[in-house]
Amino acid sequence: MDVDVLIVGGGVSGLSAAWWLAQRGVAAELWERAPTLGGVVGTRRVGGYAMESGASLMLNFRPEVTAFIEQSGLAPEKLALRSDAPRFVVQRGMLAQVPTRLGSQAFTPFWSGCGRLRLLAEPLIPRGGDEAETASAFVTRRLGCEALEKVFEPMLASTFGCDPDLAQARAVLPRLTALEQRFGSIAVGVLVRKLRRQAAPAMEMFSFKGGMQSLIDALARNPGVSVRTECTAAVLVREPDGWAALACTREGERRLRARHVVLSVPAMEAAELLDPNDPELAALIGGLEYAPLAVVHLGFERAAIEHRLDGMGFLVPRAEARALLGCQWSAGVLAERAPGGRVLLSAFLGGARAPQIAQWDEAAIAGAALDQLTALLGLRDAPETTQVVRHTRGLPLYHGNHLRRVRDVRERLRRWPGLHIAANYLDGVSTRDRIVSGYAVAGEICSQLLAASGGRRPEREHVRPVPRRREARGATI
Ligand SMILES: Cc1cc2nc3c(=O)[nH]c(=O)nc-3n(C[C@H](O)[C@H](O)[C@H](O)COP(=O)(O)OP(=O)(O)OC[C@H]3O[C@@H](n4cnc5c(N)ncnc54)[C@H](O)[C@@H]3O)c2cc1C
Repeated sequence: MDVDVLIVGGGVSGLSAAWWLAQRGVAAELWERAPTLGGVVGTRRVGGYAMESGASLMLNFRPEVTAFIEQSGLAPEKLALRSDAPRFVVQRGMLAQVPTRLGSQAFTPFWSGCGRLRLLAEPLIPRGGDEAETASAFVTRRLGCEALEKVFEPMLASTFGCDPDLAQARAVLPRLTALEQRFGSIAVGVLVRKLRRQAAPAMEMFSFKGGMQSLIDALARNPGVSVRTECTAAVLVREPDGWAALACTREGERRLRARHVVLSVPAMEAAELLDPNDPELAALIGGLEYAPLAVVHLGFERAAIEHRLDGMGFLVPRAEARALLGCQWSAGVLAERAPGGRVLLSAFLGGARAPQIAQWDEAAIAGAALDQLTALLGLRDAPETTQVVRHTRGLPLYHGNHLRRVRDVRERLRRWPGLHIAANYLDGVSTRDRIVSGYAVAGEICSQLLAASGGRRPEREHVRPVPRRREARGATI
């Protein structure tokens, strides 16, 4: 056997699995198709602006992520966002501030009279719904359709790229659906936890001084793993005591035998590798749909933007009929993303709401973003720089009965000892969930290696325990 673990894919999922394995002293080799690591995450510096190609912020409440940030030395790099920073959504072509405090919901003009009454009636709504319930049905049933259209739809459309009419509530809103299941009401659940002093784990939103590239660099600073870029896994075959893999590289073929393989590539690539071994598993994974996403970065002189740019950005509900999902600006805590006197606007377009952007060229995407931002933010001048990042398969869609599909995949994986999946199409799209998933897969592999070696622990193991916490099953938010 050449190596204990082969990891295929060098995005946050694969890098996290490698990082946690190295903490436990397990040797791994990682293959990445692209010339650089990070997958959809990375920060490009253009004319003094720091432009994120994908993820731009982390929203964390998981101890695994906190442990990783501390143990990897990333803590001093963190740029925390104020949790009370104003958030905006578009309402009839204007930016409206979203009331975030529970107590303020009764008085804010953000809600109509009926919408407010419907929110206040939430504790009176009987428990209901089943596993197949969609996110739209769940939110409408508990909080009313105004809450769905003004807040939840734009939030889900931007974080998951999904259509809440098709997405499974328990997959995309696991914490809220768990509160209903446990307490019969979201508001009662929050209140009971407060009274019992079982406060939800602190929620932190942050980026890093070097942008999200700092996260990738910290994950990649890992002497325990041998990383090969421009190394595309092409064949994977089960052998009696492990897996044989073949990759195409610039130098020719690379062959490797590993006890365990972690697949951290997008669903279509995973399905191609799995098909010769298990066509049924390949079909389950390959059948997953993705939504295209585009990020348009626009650099402006501050004086060219009329809006006061407080808070961090805005989301766009579907009622506004725009391809734009939302926009973040660099004013405030993310000021380091733009040179002095300048502001970077980062607009997100596409998702399940506007899949047509996959057919648009860069000029059309940038033009659509600029048109819509001009009206919403009062742009007085042309941007001094424009960059478009396109992701044809941006985010996997948790549409249909996603949790059943995940169970089926996990069930099927049991037939293949030594085969593991850590990827965003199974258990959460956020970078937080990717780090948690890497932690889980590393733990699984270590237990299996330990059992196979008769309990002999690796000499280089220096893992520090991460506090355990009960968590609603599902993805993010
Ligand atoms: C535009 C956008 C904005 C986002 N914003 C946020 C955000 O603000 N916050 C947040 O938490 N999350 C965000 N996300 C989600 C998050 O960034 C991703 O879900 C996560 O980074 C995916 O990581 P991954 O490793 O699972 O997949 P990927 O990043 O897709 O990595 C898979 C890797 O596998 C490689 N690969 C493919 N085939 C092969 C092969 N045959 N052999 C070897 N390598 C192969 C690919 O080159 C790639 O590097 C965003 C995503 C997008 C697209």
